[in-house]
Amino acid sequence: MKQYDITEVANRLGISIRRGKALCPFHADRNPSMTFKYNRYRCWSCNASGSAIDLVINIMHCSFSEALTRLEGSGVNNDYRSSASWQPNAESVDLRQYAYIFDNPIITNRAAAFLFDKRRLDKKVISDLRISSTHEHIVIPYFDTDGHKLHSIQWRYMGFDSQVPRFCFARGSRPTIYNLPILNTLQPHEDLYLAEGTSDCWALLSGGRKAIAIPSATLLKSCHKQHIDILRRHPRIHIFPDNDLPGLKLYQELKQELPQLIKHTLPTNCKDYAEYYLSFER
Ligand SMILES: [Zn+2]
Repeated sequence: MKQYDITEVANRLGISIRRGKALCPFHADRNPSMTFKYNRYRCWSCNASGSAIDLVINIMHCSFSEALTRLEGSGVNNDYRSSASWQPNAESVDLRQYAYIFDNPIITNRAAAFLFDKRRLDKKVISDLRISSTHEHIVIPYFDTDGHKLHSIQWRYMGFDSQVPRFCFARGSRPTIYNLPILNTLQPHEDLYLAEGTSDCWALLSGGRKAIAIPSATLLKSCHKQHIDILRRHPRIHIFPDNDLPGLKLYQELKQELPQLIKHTLPTNCKDYAEYYLSFER
């Protein structure tokens, strides 16, 4: 079988190697613990080790054959991406094949820094949501109310390359509301918060509120409106619209669908709830 150069593959995965060492993507590494020798990687802290192909499999959560396809393709970390929003006629990709990712989620160093240091999110919230990550992306599962069936997988880019979309959905993702399993824990008159986007939802949950999210305004298009029906029976739904025109517009559209919606206004210096959360969490 063809030999792939471990340092070249590591570079393509976004791992920067200096003097033969790199920060390990598989544990919360602060000093470079990963070394590259005999065309293999090895972490002297968490004992992760393997070949170039293993590195692709473990970082991208993919099968052996998919890893080979990716290595042969133009970019290891480019081809799993699909599109920034749901496609109306998405190919039928069975997302169940990816369910194992969320049975044993991985929080890479970079994801831990992003979620827990920068965003100050609650570790239990992130773990309950079964969020996983790769070197460059946070991988977000959208489960059905039963908490098992996967409707969507969303990727959130953490890097600085302006060419890469910040959010995108995996192929085969279907439009739905985020964090539906929480509806099972809701008492009949308990308050429910409706967030715009997953980041605001994580902040609301970390602040001890029960929250779900509309991941994008496209969910309000007529063909997807049946998903909003799930919320009609909840008497107390709250919203903190984003402090901008699209935020206000989304609120007005939602209010037409959900007349029980209660609007709260964010302080003028906060553009969204995630920012507001940081202002009192710091
Ligand atoms: Zn390690």
